[in-house]
Amino acid sequence: MDLTTSVSELANVGEIYAKRLSKLGILTLEDLLMHVPFRYEDFTNIKKISTIKAKENVTIHAKIESITNITTKRGRKAQLAIVFDETGKMQILWFNQPYILYALKTGSDFAFSGNAQWFNKKLTLFAPVYEPLSSKSESIHTGRIVPIYHTTNKINSKWIRTRIFHLLKNDFEEFLPEDILKKHNLMDFTNAVKTVHFPEKSDNIENARKRLAFNEFFMQQIKWLMRAEDRKKFTISHKINIPKSLYLNFVNSLPFKLTQSQERSIKEIFEDLKKKTPMNRLVEGDVGSGKTVVAGAAAFAAFTNGFQSVFMAPTQILAEQHYNTLSKLFAPYKGRVSLITSTKKSIEMGRSDIFVGTHALIYKKVDFDKVALVVIDESHRFGVNERAKIAKIVSKNKKSPHILTMTATPIPRTIALTAYGDLDLSTLDELPKGRKPITTWIVPPEKRNGAYEWISKEIDENKVQAFIVCPLIDESQVETLKEIKAVKTEFEKLQNIFKDKRLGLLHGKLKSKEKEKVLEDFRKGSLDILVSTPVVEVGIDIPNATIMVIEAAERFGLAQLHQLRGRVGRGEKKSYCLLFTESKSEKVNQRLLAMKKSISGFELAEIDLQMRGPGEIYGVAQHGFPQLKVATWQDSNLIKLTRLVAQEAISDKNKFAKVFEKLNKLEVNLN
Ligand code: ADP
Ligand code: MG
Repeated sequence: MDLTTSVSELANVGEIYAKRLSKLGILTLEDLLMHVPFRYEDFTNIKKISTIKAKENVTIHAKIESITNITTKRGRKAQLAIVFDETGKMQILWFNQPYILYALKTGSDFAFSGNAQWFNKKLTLFAPVYEPLSSKSESIHTGRIVPIYHTTNKINSKWIRTRIFHLLKNDFEEFLPEDILKKHNLMDFTNAVKTVHFPEKSDNIENARKRLAFNEFFMQQIKWLMRAEDRKKFTISHKINIPKSLYLNFVNSLPFKLTQSQERSIKEIFEDLKKKTPMNRLVEGDVGSGKTVVAGAAAFAAFTNGFQSVFMAPTQILAEQHYNTLSKLFAPYKGRVSLITSTKKSIEMGRSDIFVGTHALIYKKVDFDKVALVVIDESHRFGVNERAKIAKIVSKNKKSPHILTMTATPIPRTIALTAYGDLDLSTLDELPKGRKPITTWIVPPEKRNGAYEWISKEIDENKVQAFIVCPLIDESQVETLKEIKAVKTEFEKLQNIFKDKRLGLLHGKLKSKEKEKVLEDFRKGSLDILVSTPVVEVGIDIPNATIMVIEAAERFGLAQLHQLRGRVGRGEKKSYCLLFTESKSEKVNQRLLAMKKSISGFELAEIDLQMRGPGEIYGVAQHGFPQLKVATWQDSNLIKLTRLVAQEAISDKNKFAKVFEKLNKLEVNLN
């Protein structure tokens, strides 16, 4: 049975259902098998009617005496059946399923599985699953451990269960070598899918899932490794070599000493740039770890070799900030920097050496001439397509650019390697020296006024500045007019509280000129307090701001709170983060306490990982992050194991021939 074929080939799955299945991410037969139950109902308890107790999960085999539409006392439409076996009668109730009258005919024999409860003083089965009793076929929905699937409103669990049940009558080819299965104690594939969907005992389910999770990570890893191989073979880039003395000039002209991890990352980047295969590297560093200058060094190397660089940032504010930073960095070397955003295209002095901008870089006609390096900052904010597009646009004469992506999303290394597996990874795991740890306070309503007074005093006495961030009302990432109104109201309130202070307001809907002005005023100190929506979250760097107030902190995830807090603590002065909350929930409290306990994004990522349910993980709901079907990102041991086995496979393709056969077929069938 070839599992790479489309589900539409399956009996009873036509075009329409194939389309509905695709909404669940199910395209091939294998996808269908990997659509594993999210829970099971144990209906193995087959009972005679007279022995059933309340609240029991049971299966009965019974004959239908009558079935009718009724209206309950509360006016709900329902369907009531009376059924019997040789020990007695009982009733069955469904709500709002009139079609059941067509399926269940008086006098016929059915199996029913459900939960028994009291209704009008009679033991009643509520909305049980049912199937005709027949000596010929095995039961699918009753009398066993029954799998329950994620569904859409157009496909129900029963339908999926039936399709999978019939598909599982086949045997499937094992594609892993026998000795690998033995060595790593993996169930064979056929057995694993059968057990996951229709387990005989619940004991074996974990093992079966592990095997399927293994497949998932393993295939992902193999793909990454093959892609890396291809890249080495088929793409070339510009070789960039920077003489040590020139680099030292650059380092010495910086206003600070590089941290060890900055130096290490720069070294790793320079090694990549020397090669003729293009670099594809991710710099992962906590907020404030100094990623910009690392990318700056790479751009400097390109510049000294006569090449251009492109810096792409997710917001205009951030692009402008990079423009300023890089302009300063390159001024001593007469490097020409230009800024390209949707409202601006300031290509100064003709040809440019560095183009900084937002995704406007992609669609504005910029005269890219000799781009050897593309830097994508806060890369998790971009889609895979945008990243690929910018690389393509700047490619000339069949030469691809070196690509450096940067992110402050501290995904644990094992996960990053799997999720972004075709990237090489550099990590900035230390903050620049002299940073004072940020003190975090949780501020309940009764302490709010005291907190405002304290902020006022701090501003007066230490000449520092403060951010006050108001959350977006709903979870959406975009700012609607309603939210702007909310932040404006808050702004007026704060103007009354801080009467003698200079306040500015920043939100996404301001005209770019206005945004620029507010930020510039704040940067140069002519504003004391910047009231803002979470637009300040990404990348903003203003060292004299030492107070970060986050309103309704419970509405933010740990990742975002950490990013926001990372806006302060960048200078020499002591910094504070005040988490305002009115929530009394224990869970919220725990989350906010984690912020107090830890200042490391990597640590918070781990905490978040533990606190959330499987499947979800810190910052993972992002573009380009593979969705898992069976495996969970928490399972770092399995990730490590699959990586090792994938490496073994790449180096011994004969032994793993079936794996590569499968990959090939997948590509052919899906293209
Ligand atoms: P992020 O990693 O969050 O992008 P930035 O690149 O914006 O961090 O750097 C944060 C701040 O730290 C900037 O003001 C930058 O000038 C400063 N900085 C970067 N590297 C160092 C260093 N080695 N020593 C001191 N300050 C540094
Ligand atoms: Mg940054």
